[in-house]
Parts: sequence; C-alpha cells; structure tokens
Amino acid sequence: MKENKLKFYKSLGLKLTPQRLAILEYLENNRTHPSAEDIYNALKPNFPSMSFATVYNTLEVLVKKGLIKEINVESIRKRFDAFTHLHHHFFCKKCKRVIDIESKQDITIPEELKDCKVTEYQIIYLGFCSECKKKEE
Ligand code: ZN
Ligand code: MN
Repeated sequence: MKENKLKFYKSLGLKLTPQRLAILEYLENNRTHPSAEDIYNALKPNFPSMSFATVYNTLEVLVKKGLIKEINVESIRKRFDAFTHLHHHFFCKKCKRVIDIESKQDITIPEELKDCKVTEYQIIYLGFCSECKKKEE
C-alpha cells in the first residue's frame, strides 16, 4: 500500500493491524464488491487465526471512517466497495454480480424532497447481466 495512503489512514486514528491492512488491500484490488464472507474466505489462508467477527467488525469501522462504502443490493448480506467516489451499481439478480456504473449523468432530485437537503444518492439498477441474460434466452 502506498506510503501517503498509510499516513492518511493513521491520521484518522485508525490502528493498522496486518489484518486491517489486508482487508483494505483486498477491497482495493477486487472491484467485485465482496461481502464480509467473501473477504473472510479469501484472507483466511494468510491469517489462519483471524475470525469472521474480526473481518465483520473491521468492515464496520472502515465504513464509519468513510474509507469504504456499504452497498445494499441484497437484503441478506452487505457488499463493500473501496471506491467511495460517486458512482452507481448494477446488480444481477441471478449471479449476484455487482457492476460499477461510472456514468456522470445527473439525476433530478424528486419534487417530494424539495424541503430536504439531499447530500448523496446511489442508484442501483437491477436485472440480469449480459451473461445471465444469454442463458435465459
Ligand atoms: Zn448475472
Ligand atoms: Mn462500486
């Protein structure tokens, strides 16, 4: 991980244990929007003593610190994203794949919200990805 990034994490008062670093790096290197289970299974061989609770709690801390984002495409499990800039997602209902949508297209804030202050929004498109769509045909 880059030196300035490490400094930034430290400046947030985040204790950087080897496990935490590994979780962060895994998220940065895998744009698949993994779940806590996915991350746990991927890192387990390198950290045999790491528990699932550690992974889960670390993810919660990272979300709270704004270092990663939680994506709620499925109600049964949260998915995580190391890329916190404004972008949207497509969720395939069949293979559960989450695809980044980098469209800069602006949305109009609904009339119902005219008295509120909208600070962020996230669009989740649902459907079948190109591969799953082919299998359906
Ligand atoms: Zn699919
Ligand atoms: Mn994303």
